[in-house]
Amino acid sequence: MSEKYDLIIIGAGPAGMTAALYASRSGLKTCIVESGAPGGKLLKTFHIENYPGIKEMGGAELAMVMFDQALAFGAEYKAGEVVKVNKDKSVELLDGTILESNCVLLATGTKERMLNIPGEQENVGKGVSFCAVCDGAFFRGKDVVVIGGGNSALEEAGFLTQFVNKLYIVIRRDQFRAEEKFQREVEENEKIEIIREHVPLEVLSDGKVTGIVLKNVKTGKTQTVDCSGIFPYVGSDPISDCVKDLGVCNEHGYVIVDRNMETAVKGVYAAGDVVDKQLRQVVTAVGEGALVAQQAYKEVKEK
Ligand code: NAP
Repeated sequence: MSEKYDLIIIGAGPAGMTAALYASRSGLKTCIVESGAPGGKLLKTFHIENYPGIKEMGGAELAMVMFDQALAFGAEYKAGEVVKVNKDKSVELLDGTILESNCVLLATGTKERMLNIPGEQENVGKGVSFCAVCDGAFFRGKDVVVIGGGNSALEEAGFLTQFVNKLYIVIRRDQFRAEEKFQREVEENEKIEIIREHVPLEVLSDGKVTGIVLKNVKTGKTQTVDCSGIFPYVGSDPISDCVKDLGVCNEHGYVIVDRNMETAVKGVYAAGDVVDKQLRQVVTAVGEGALVAQQAYKEVKEK
């Protein structure tokens, strides 16, 4: 058993990194545990243009700057996967390590939802991709299909058009869910064709993706779109398994918090996309991270 922390932060996205910066700067013994690369969803975002103070910056670049700053005041960083948060605020890692803490922040974000259609899983990495920023360049001169009509789908579709020959956006209603700005951009982009009121049925492949079968939701008629790449952007699910036993999640797995980002278990907080809330943005995540650090500071000082 290692020395007890004041605050253990699970997840090094914008919320977690900001909490680490604020907590360590105020003198709390702070540790961030992250199972992947630091940066969270920023790493999969081509550019950020709605974070005040930064007119435009690559997502990965912003992640690196935030990470440097998060560790600048002495926060520790551990690579590892947290499998359980206990009521006593100890945290269990996949490798059996147990870390003790006064407070815990869950800032694990969300993971991309799959389409769950035949041919999808076996073609991940063979044409099916969940990260346009990571894989877009592999589809230079090719035709690709983006599924979904939210901000992620439309933003990443725009990014992909710098590489591809033609891009189809498939939405299941006749309307997008995304902000109007993104809608205007895709509607004005000559490389993009929008296929409305269709759902994906099957990914076709001969070892690599060759096409996708779509069904018209009104007529039931099917059609095949030939393509080399498929990018599903149909939303995401919270990563909250490690707090499942604490009974702090809603029916969809999002974590319920009060106005101080504290869950029903005292000393256990959540911030960022994993929280049950309306607006999921970098700017909201960082504010929540800062708030948690301040609450943790108060709690530790009271003790
Ligand atoms: P989202 O807003 O939930 O949109 C998901 C899209 O996928 C919707 O168009 C939905 O259709 C469609 N969909 C869901 N299940 C489907 C299925 N089985 N088959 C076909 N289509 C399906 O998800 P998101 O775009 O990932 O965004 C998540 C959050 O992050 C949002 O709060 C968003 O505002 C935020 N975000 C913000 C930015 C930004 O501000 N720059 C960028 C990215 C994400 P319906 O509309 O018919 O339900």
